[in-house]
Amino acid sequence: MSRLTTTAGAPVADNQNSETAGLRGPLLMQDYQLLEKLAHQNRERIPERTVHAKGWGAFGTFTVTHDITRHTRASIFGAVGKTTPMLARFSTVAGEAGAADHERDVRGFALKFYTDEGNWDLVGNNSPVFFIRDPLKFPDFIHTQKRHPRSNLRSNTAMWDFWSLVPESLHQVTILMSDRGLPQDPTRMNGYGSHTYSLWNAKGERVWVKFHFKTQQGHAHFTNAEGNAMIARSREGYQEALFGGIEAGRFPRWTLKIQIMSEAEAQQTAFDPFDLTKVWPHADFPLHEVGYFELNRNADNYFAQIEQAAFSPSNKVPGIGFSPDKMLQARVFSYADAHRYRLGTHYEALPVNQPRCPVHHYHKDGAMNFVGPQTGAVDAYYEPNSVGGVTQDPSVAEPALPVSGATGRHAHAQQIDDYAQPRALHDKVLNAEQRARLYANTAASMAGVPQQIIDRALAHYDTISPAYGAGIRAALAAAN
Ligand code: NDP
Repeated sequence: MSRLTTTAGAPVADNQNSETAGLRGPLLMQDYQLLEKLAHQNRERIPERTVHAKGWGAFGTFTVTHDITRHTRASIFGAVGKTTPMLARFSTVAGEAGAADHERDVRGFALKFYTDEGNWDLVGNNSPVFFIRDPLKFPDFIHTQKRHPRSNLRSNTAMWDFWSLVPESLHQVTILMSDRGLPQDPTRMNGYGSHTYSLWNAKGERVWVKFHFKTQQGHAHFTNAEGNAMIARSREGYQEALFGGIEAGRFPRWTLKIQIMSEAEAQQTAFDPFDLTKVWPHADFPLHEVGYFELNRNADNYFAQIEQAAFSPSNKVPGIGFSPDKMLQARVFSYADAHRYRLGTHYEALPVNQPRCPVHHYHKDGAMNFVGPQTGAVDAYYEPNSVGGVTQDPSVAEPALPVSGATGRHAHAQQIDDYAQPRALHDKVLNAEQRARLYANTAASMAGVPQQIIDRALAHYDTISPAYGAGIRAALAAAN
C-alpha cells in the first residue's frame, strides 16, 4: 500500500495523534504535520466568481456534421466528422457558490473547445439576449442582482428600479420571467453565444454569426412553486441531475446551429445586429446546422476541473473573431482579468485550462510559474531574437473589423426600438398559458417594490403590448 507523505514527500508515521510534551500536552511547535494540515485548510478557498459563482460542468466531445469551411478556416470546423474535446460549465448568475440550484435566474452556458489551434471559449447563456447593451452599465446592473450593502439581502426594489430605468433590459426580463427562466436541469435548456461573432475564411472574407446550441433533451422548466419544492428537497438539484446522469451513462447532447449575416446585410437591418439586447429574427436569418456536442465524462475533481475552469471570450482561434458588440469587447478584458484575480497569473497553465496543442509564449516568471520558458530556445526570453525563439505567424492575421464614423461615446447606430422584440415574444411566440405564468412570475418578483417603480415598469410593459401590461396588473392584484 502506498504511504501517506507530507507535501514534501516524506513518509508520515502517525496521522491520528498530534505531538505533545508529556502525555497530555501542550502541543509541540515541531509537529509540522499538524501545522501543515491546519495551514492548508485555511487556504482551501479561493475567491468565488463575482457572477456565475454556482456552477456544474462536465467534459465531452464536439463533432462536425455539416461543412462550413467556406465561411471559416477554424480548425475545429475543418472537416465533417472531425471531433474536438471540450468542457462545459453551466451556472446561475446572481447566487453565491452555495446558492440553491433551482432559482429563477439566467443560466451561464460556457464552453471550452480544446482545438488544435488553441482553446476556443464560447461563454454564453441560456438566453439569446442580455439585460444591457453597453458594458459601462454592467457593474451597476450586477449590483442590483447582488445583496443590498446594508441589509445584506437581495433587493427586488433595486432590480426593478434599474430595469424600469433601462427599458432595453425588458426583453431579457421577459425571457427570465417566462418558463425558460427556471430550467429543470442544465440539460433541458438551449445555449446561445448571444453576442454577434465573426467567422472568417482562408481568403480573409468575413461574415457575422450567432451561435445557437439546441438541447436534444427537449426544453423542460419548473414553475416557481415546483422550483421551491425542489429546493426544499435539495439545494443541489442541477449537480445531481448532470453528474448523476453522466455517471449513469446518460450523455446529454446539443446541436450547434448558426445564423449568418453578411457585412452588407448588417448595414440594412432594422435593428442593430451588434446590440446584445436583440436577436436576429429566424425568418430573416435562418439557422444552419453545423454539428453537436455530447457531455460524457464527469470531472475527477470538482474543484480542480470545474471551479478552476477559466472560460473567457478572449480565447478565440484563427477563423473565429469578435464583432463591434460593445458587451463582447468588454468581456474580452473582464473575464480573463477575473481569472487572474481568482486563480493567478498563470491560470491558463492549470491542467483543465491547458490547450491540447503546443503553447509558446514569452510571458515570464510570476507566482506559481511551474512550466518555465515556452519559447522554443533556452536563450530566447525576449522577442524579436536571433537565437531561434518562436515567432509570429502572419498567415493567421484576422481581417480588420470595419469601423465607421468619428470616435466618441455613441448610442447604437440604428434607430433603437427596445419594445418590438419583447412584443414579438409576448404576442407571437408565447401561448395563453405561458403568458399567464409570465405575468405571475413578473408580479411575484415585484413583491415589496414601491408603487412608483412598479408604475414606471408597467408603462414600459404597456408600450411593449397593452395585453402584457394588463396581464401583470391583474397578476399583481391577484397576489395582493
Ligand atoms: P420565431 O418564431 O422564428 O422564433 C421564436 C423563438 O422563440 C423560438 O424559435 C424559440 O427559440 C424561442 N422561444 C420559444 N419559447 C420561448 C420562451 N418561452 N422564452 C423565450 N424564447 C422562446 O421568431 P423570431 O426569430 O422572429 O423571434 C421572435 C422572438 O422570439 C424574439 O423577439 C425573441 O424574443 C424570441 N427568440 C428569438 C430567438 C432568435 O434567435 N430569433 C431565439 C430565442 C428567442 P429557440 O428555437 O432558440 O428555442
